[in-house]
Amino acid sequence: MKFNEDETKIVIEKEDYELFKNECKKWIGILGLTDWEIGFIHDAIPYRASTSWSTGGKIATIGLDIYWKLSQEKKNIKEYKENLKDFAFHEVLHLLLSHVYDTIEDKYDKNAAEREVHTIIWKLVNGIKKINV
Ligand SMILES: [Zn+2]
Repeated sequence: MKFNEDETKIVIEKEDYELFKNECKKWIGILGLTDWEIGFIHDAIPYRASTSWSTGGKIATIGLDIYWKLSQEKKNIKEYKENLKDFAFHEVLHLLLSHVYDTIEDKYDKNAAEREVHTIIWKLVNGIKKINV
């Protein structure tokens, strides 16, 4: 992970992608999501990381962007690197909560599903960090 030449964005390198993937696999094992067929991509995507899924077929793709926009509150690469593990856990939680997400989306809408699922995800990401798993 490094700044690009004009320091306008963060370059996500292959080793970052490998770390992200390994962290995802760790959580997939811990949470017992091994019955899913999960592919990984490292490509230009609209978010820093994202997950798409089909709950019916239990097929998912977890992606990591090749560039990240700079954050106001982050000063150095170390702070961005710390995010990588959080994003991996975050994306695996999307799989864990995929059926909940789909159910909320069917009953209400995508915004409600995004809001409710992310409320749970951020509480878990921040909570688990405190016990240092
Ligand atoms: Zn999310």
